[in-house]
Amino acid sequence: MNLKMKIKKDLKNEINNEKKGGKDLRILNYYDLKEGEKMKVLLIPDVNGELWTKFKKHGPNLKLPGAGSVNCAYTSSGDNCPACQKGFDLLNEFNDTGDKAYKEEAKRWFARDYTIVSVIVLESPIEVNESEDHNQVKIMYLPYAMENMIKETVSEGQIDQDDIPFTPLVIKKTKNAGGWASYENSYFAREKIEEEDMEVFDDMVVEQYDYSDLDIIPPAASSEDVAKWLEKAEEVDEKAKNGESTGGGSTDSGSAKTKENPLDRINKKKEKAPESEPEEQEEDDASQEEEAQEEEAKPESKPQNSALKDRLKKLRK
Ligand SMILES: [Zn+2]
Repeated sequence: MNLKMKIKKDLKNEINNEKKGGKDLRILNYYDLKEGEKMKVLLIPDVNGELWTKFKKHGPNLKLPGAGSVNCAYTSSGDNCPACQKGFDLLNEFNDTGDKAYKEEAKRWFARDYTIVSVIVLESPIEVNESEDHNQVKIMYLPYAMENMIKETVSEGQIDQDDIPFTPLVIKKTKNAGGWASYENSYFAREKIEEEDMEVFDDMVVEQYDYSDLDIIPPAASSEDVAKWLEKAEEVDEKAKNGESTGGGSTDSGSAKTKENPLDRINKKKEKAPESEPEEQEEDDASQEEEAQEEEAKPESKPQNSALKDRLKKLRK
């Protein structure tokens, strides 16, 4: 036997990230705001001076937790992307038949766009997630409407790009006509903060991220990677459509085991522990508006009561 038993992943880091019900506490939980509430942040670049980074993932639009996700091969590697192709094929079916079901199905297989920015929270009516390292720099999944607002503000010359990190950005949660959470009324504050105001952060952990090496961004995928994912995802989707459970359940009822697997043999003297497949959690989905909507049903967060807020009160004067 020639087993390779070395564990490559940084397991401790991974476990830390999974703590608190799989929530990644580096991520800004602005979606916990209630309707009408505002959070004031500063947009700051990453270590390489990038204001944001973008990627596309196939999977989240399926809305099947068991289906996982994969980076788009075309966007991340310039390869042909089988998942994009599946979407286009379905769109062609729609064009040929006029059957809208094909169009809806196409949407499910196309990639979802993500834009990530880094922020420092200046003021918040809700408790902001705090990661174990207490880094004040949070990662924010930027809603589409806010990205557009930022682009317009810059392209119309209302804000010079050098002033962005010193101009508070007010995240305002509202509801759109469809009743979904919306951030389209977010805006830049008129008053800039001075560079010396940033001194309040001097004795805090303020570490900028590096988007070129951020584990939240899925690794670049090849055509083969996507094809592999697609095969699995189609299986999961098929099962879901047939009304079967897709969750990483801990029961093995119904799923008849045809033969004894090695683990069974290893455990044969022990009481067999329930198997649990890791359920891929799409934390980042929480940033999406529909998920944000669901978040609202959760118990209300208590108001932030940290020293930071007190210091920032001074800052606001
Ligand atoms: Zn793709």
